Amino acid sequence: MNQMYQGSCHCGQIAFEVEGELTGATDCNCSICQRKGTLMWFVPRTQLHLRTAPEAMRSYTFHKHVIQHYFCPTCGMHPFGEGVGPDGSAMAAVNIRCLEGVDVYDIPVHHHDGRAL
Ligand SMILES: [Zn+2]
Repeated sequence: MNQMYQGSCHCGQIAFEVEGELTGATDCNCSICQRKGTLMWFVPRTQLHLRTAPEAMRSYTFHKHVIQHYFCPTCGMHPFGEGVGPDGSAMAAVNIRCLEGVDVYDIPVHHHDGRAL
């Protein structure tokens, strides 16, 4: 069932809403995900609504520079990233650790072997 979630960084400089059915999250061991420790929920970018100014965010890119890894320059949290799905559509990878009312221990986590790619 679709639900609306409120998300934010720790200090509140980045706030957003995301809608969808949160049935699981992805934990990845690639070079950046292992360091960030995010649990990602992939949704179409249209389901994520930023509630704060885009200028409040910084983004980090590496390798092919196709994924924007957004973070808060004040508190350092990584609430979400943006990229493109296999079909070319805009996607967001929401860090469910930044969502209100979500106990990450209740969400099934799929381990993605990103390091092997
Ligand atoms: Zn912040």
